Amino acid sequence: MHDVINPATEAVIATVPSTSREETDEAIERAHAAWPAWRAVAPGDRAVLLRRFSDVVRDHVEELAQLEVANAGHTIGNARWEANNVANVLAYYAGAPERLFGRQVPVAGGIDITFQEPVGVVGLIVPWNFPMPIAGWGFAPALAAGCTVVMKPAEVTPLTAIRLGELALEAGIPEGVLTVLPGKGSVVGQRLVEHPLVRKIVFTGSTEVGEGVMRGAADHIKRVTLELGGKSANIVFADSDLEKAAATAPYGVFDNAGQDCCARSRILVERSAFDRFMELFETAVQGVRVEDPLLESSEMGPLITRAHHDTVSGYVPDGAPVAFRGSCPAGQGFWFPPTVLAPVDPADRAFREEIFGPVVVVTPFEDEADAIRLANDSDFGLSGSIWTRDLGRGLRVARGVESGNLSVNSHSSVRYWTPFGGFKKSGLGRELGPDAPDAFTETKNVFISTED
Ligand code: NAP
Ligand code: MG
Repeated sequence: MHDVINPATEAVIATVPSTSREETDEAIERAHAAWPAWRAVAPGDRAVLLRRFSDVVRDHVEELAQLEVANAGHTIGNARWEANNVANVLAYYAGAPERLFGRQVPVAGGIDITFQEPVGVVGLIVPWNFPMPIAGWGFAPALAAGCTVVMKPAEVTPLTAIRLGELALEAGIPEGVLTVLPGKGSVVGQRLVEHPLVRKIVFTGSTEVGEGVMRGAADHIKRVTLELGGKSANIVFADSDLEKAAATAPYGVFDNAGQDCCARSRILVERSAFDRFMELFETAVQGVRVEDPLLESSEMGPLITRAHHDTVSGYVPDGAPVAFRGSCPAGQGFWFPPTVLAPVDPADRAFREEIFGPVVVVTPFEDEADAIRLANDSDFGLSGSIWTRDLGRGLRVARGVESGNLSVNSHSSVRYWTPFGGFKKSGLGRELGPDAPDAFTETKNVFISTED
């Protein structure tokens, strides 16, 4: 059993069973047994079931959002967006079953056609930072492609995942098609990676655990999609709308208390604009409302656990170059104030490692080439932003930064209908967008002779 704790109050809000290794094996076998019938559901009927699942989730958005506020400390506004995201992603991929097209390839002496065949049981391993969206990005396209799914939520944030599993059944998704197994990564997650009947792993989490998942998958040549860490750059040129760049920068990094793989946690500012930017940025940081996540006005909640609070604190030791900080509540809860470190050298730990909390470093650059060099001076490559009024420069820098998701004059990374994923140690493969169901299929080529 595992006690689930509200990070804003430290109260125990639920006790959830921890799935054992044997129970994990049984669930995988049930998912494998459910697969032939699920893949045989006619495309249009699978689409209807997914649309119904989307509708049922939509009917429960407020309940799911309240659960996430209590379990993960997300602000109520964000949590509603996240629950709606699950419904939207399900509705989007409900359009996929009838569109899993193969091709017809010209050949002599016959006809050649391809099929997109579902891979089989998919193991979906989800982190605690965005329990709902990351679950939906995995299971919606997998189910659409005709796979069955066994999902393991993070041990500390199982509540919305468990509820989504119940809502799937309520919507008519058959037993065994989407199974939710709360428990430990070292038990349930590990077993999903090891078990030969699981044909693909979709893992979102730290680069360190992701490396182990990829190593374990190699034993079975198991397919993997990995969405890992980030240390993304927010590049601010002197020719940009500095007021807007500074006003939005806190939300590009402190959203979800910085526990966001896409957090723009390195702000790179052209030297000639550095002092002005810092002045404007200080005002913006002090305006971030860090408060009870249930308040409609709340813009940032607490960190997820006491242990994570300790880890984040380790990046701001006595003597750290704190330029300024925002505020946060005192008392119960794992609160941490928005914190700005500057100037920070690219060799420093705070510049190189993913902190995954509300701590940002600010570093000056000299020119366009220097900005690209600094942005790429990282093992990661997930997202990033570029602020400039020069469209050509915006595009040049976007092409130059080694990262999967860039935005110019904005901090948006994720739209469910556009592809998402990382370069370098930020991951392997892409989620979302029109091609996501293909990642749950194998291409089969069939030649049919027309000769007598
Ligand atoms: P984590 O420690 O890597 O855990 C992620 C998941 O893997 C959890 O469910 C965890 O279970 C499980 N796990 C742990 N050990 C395992 C093992 N040996 N085998 C299989 N599964 C195992 O990551 P986290 O601390 O929860 O999440 C933060 C990280 O996720 C950050 O690095 C962040 O950048 C990354 N992230 C990336 C993206 C992206 O799309 N690129 C999105 C969100 C987050 P437990 O519950 O037992 O820990
Ligand atoms: Mg962890």
